[in-house]
Amino acid sequence: MNPDIEQRPDQARPDRLLVLGTGGTIAGRAEQRGDHVGYRAGEVAVADLLAGIALPAGWRVQAEQLAQVDSKDMGPGVWRPLLARVRELLEQADVAGIVITHGTDTLEETAYLLQRLLAPAKPVVLTCAMRPATALAPDGPQNLADALVVAAEPGALGVVAVCAGRIHAALEVRKVHHYRLDAFDSGDAGPLGLVEQGTCTRFKPWPAADEPEPGRRLARLERLLGQQPWPRVECLFSHGGADGWLVRALLAQDAAQGRQRADRLQGLVVAGTGNGTLHQDLQAALLEAQAAGLRVWRSTRCASGRVLSVAASTDPIPAVALPPAQARLALLLELCA
Ligand code: ASP
Repeated sequence: MNPDIEQRPDQARPDRLLVLGTGGTIAGRAEQRGDHVGYRAGEVAVADLLAGIALPAGWRVQAEQLAQVDSKDMGPGVWRPLLARVRELLEQADVAGIVITHGTDTLEETAYLLQRLLAPAKPVVLTCAMRPATALAPDGPQNLADALVVAAEPGALGVVAVCAGRIHAALEVRKVHHYRLDAFDSGDAGPLGLVEQGTCTRFKPWPAADEPEPGRRLARLERLLGQQPWPRVECLFSHGGADGWLVRALLAQDAAQGRQRADRLQGLVVAGTGNGTLHQDLQAALLEAQAAGLRVWRSTRCASGRVLSVAASTDPIPAVALPPAQARLALLLELCA
């Protein structure tokens, strides 16, 4: 599906904005208009979402339905074609920016992958909604209109998320509320900017490439686009009574199936308590996992803040300054290096 909604063929500057639909609540449908939780995500076509809003004047805005999923079910099956299509579109000279409609649940993961693997020199703007499209007062139309403002902003670049009038950088954004319309936060870093009345105000620079060697980034991208399956990295929590049973069960299962399989367990991210601290019995099991050849990283189960490393000698399990879901992807990328 590729409806040209507005035509300005006479322009020399990039004048095309692409809106890629992947599903989510923004495309959700409920039986009752007042129902904000009992709906089916990923039902309304992205072209229909666009048809409901005023488009920025002077731009060709085109819709493409890339997937139609509830983002709780997001994974390589959608990430692969999304990465490939976004890369392809970024290379087209007349494309100024890309908007991706996405579910809120795993938006921070998709944003992280896109930024780390593509580090785009044009804006790639994820947007979403907390209420389905059929709600009495849906939030999706305003979020989509705001996302288009950011995609059309002169000088904008990198991957950002736009929700409830706030712009968040891909590597900072996280979902912090299950129901509130303003469900995202950038933690201590604060939002990158705001969209108000169709105007973008920025407090910080646009997200730039953090990979010192672009060649490594491209090699990882090629591997993930081609690799079936992706390196297996699992997440677990430290908690009262965490005795390492789960880790040993994973190791036993993996050993029984043979460590040569492509989908063998390669990494674990543990969401520790506070500053990434671990129950001593869980830590013992994780050290066994390391000895068996697994990469193990520590994040925190705290909703905000980042784990601060202590001296390496007393810190046998490396800490990572990312929330657990993004840390899992960071380790996955590391395993593709
Ligand atoms: N489960 C939905 C999703 O992530 C939630 C949302 O979009 O708000 O697709």
